[in-house]
Amino acid sequence: MEFSTFGNKFARYSGITQLMDDLNDGLRNPDAIMLGGGNPAQIPAMVDYFTQLSQHLNESGELAAAMTNYDGPQGKNTFINALADLLRERYGWEISSRNISLTNGSQSAFFSLFNLLAGDFPDGSHKKILLPLAPEYIGYADAGVSPDMFISYRPEITLLDNGLFKYNVDFKALKVDDNVGAICASRPTNPTGNVLTDEEIRHLDELAQQHGIPLIIDNAYGMPFPDIIFEDVTPFWNHNTILCMSLSKLGLPGVRCGIVIASEEITTALANMNGVLSLAPGSVGPAIANKMIEQGDLLRLSEEVIKPFYQAKSQQAVKWLQEAIPDARFRVHKPEGAMFLWLWLKDLPITTMELYRRLKARGVLIVPGEYFFIGLEEDWSHGHECLRMNYVQEDEKMQRGIAIIAEEVAKAYQEV
Ligand code: PLP
Repeated sequence: MEFSTFGNKFARYSGITQLMDDLNDGLRNPDAIMLGGGNPAQIPAMVDYFTQLSQHLNESGELAAAMTNYDGPQGKNTFINALADLLRERYGWEISSRNISLTNGSQSAFFSLFNLLAGDFPDGSHKKILLPLAPEYIGYADAGVSPDMFISYRPEITLLDNGLFKYNVDFKALKVDDNVGAICASRPTNPTGNVLTDEEIRHLDELAQQHGIPLIIDNAYGMPFPDIIFEDVTPFWNHNTILCMSLSKLGLPGVRCGIVIASEEITTALANMNGVLSLAPGSVGPAIANKMIEQGDLLRLSEEVIKPFYQAKSQQAVKWLQEAIPDARFRVHKPEGAMFLWLWLKDLPITTMELYRRLKARGVLIVPGEYFFIGLEEDWSHGHECLRMNYVQEDEKMQRGIAIIAEEVAKAYQEV
C-alpha cells in the first residue's frame, strides 16, 4: 500500500518503537534482563498504595465516574484546579487552572508542542526545536511532522573523581536565531541522569526570552513529583516556560497522563489540539492524582518513598558497575536524577549498537548511545561509545546483567 508523506514518516520503525518493542518482549520473556526501557520500578510500597487507592476509588464510585465520562479537552478540572493550587502554594508560581492542560502521556504533549512551535510557518520559514545539550531523550527524535525538526549541540565534558563525568551546556557553541522555534531540555535528563544547573536554566530562559521563543523543560522525573532528582536544584517556571510533567514515573505509566504548565495561549492551543487528536485526555490518571493531592500523598510519597528508592538503587548500580569494569576508559555520568545510568566506554573498538546486539543475544537489553544524539549536525564518535541502562530491576537481575555487560565490554576492548 502506498502511504502519504506523513504515513511514511510515522509508520516506519523508529528508535522509540524499537525500544517499546524490546520492552514488551522483555516483559513477555521472564529470563530477559531488561536494562533498556523506561518502565518505572515496581516499588512495593507504591504498588500497595495504588492498589488500595483504586479500591477506595472503586468503592466511592469515583473510578466508575472517571471511566464513564469524557472530560473536557483541557483535562479533568478538579485535578487541574488542585494542581494549580499546589504549585502556587509550594513554589509561589503565578498559575491558575488556565495554565494547565493534560494529555495522554507527556509523549503526546511533545508531539503537539513541537509541531505547534516548529516546522513550516505561514511566511515560508522553517523553524527547529533547539536541544541545547545532546544526548537527549530518544522520544523526541521522531516527533516532528516536518523533516529536520531538531538542532542540538555537543556538551562540555568534565571528568570527575571516582570514575564519573558530567555534561554541561556549551553556551559558547549554542546559536539561537530566527530558525529556532523553541528550546527544549529534559531535566533530569533521559538518558544521562544529568540535571541542568540552576545557572544553566537561568541562562536558557534568558536566551529564550531574548528571542521571543518558549523554553520547554521536560520535568518527567523532576520536582515536586516524582522527585527522582538527587541534586539540590530549584524547579523553574515563568510565563515563557512550558513545564511538562507526567504521572508515569510516579509508577503510573499505564494511565497515560501528561501535564503541561504553560501560558494561557499555549494552554488553549494544546486543549484545542487535544480536541482534534483525542477528544479529551483520559480521566482515570487525573482522578487518581487528584485523590493523592486531596490526601496529601502526592508530594509526601515522592519525597519519602520514590526518591530514596531510586537514589539507593543508582548508587548500588554504580558500585557494581565499577567493580565489574575496572578499566580506566570506563566512566559513568554522575547520577543526578532520572532512572538511568549513562555509561561511557572511551575508545571502544566496536559501536555500542554492535554491543547492544551482542548483549541482546545474551538476554540483556540496554539502549545503544547512537539513538540519543538527535539533531546533531555531525557524527560524533562519543555517541558510539556510550550506552544507557536503567537500574530499576531487582538486585539479582542487575548483578547478572552487569556481569554480562562487563564480559562483553572486556571482550570488545580486546578487539583492537
Ligand atoms: N520525557 C522523558 C524525559 C521521558 O523519559 C519520558 C518517558 O520515558 C517521557 C517524556 C514520556 O513519558 P510519558 O508519555 O509516559 O509521560
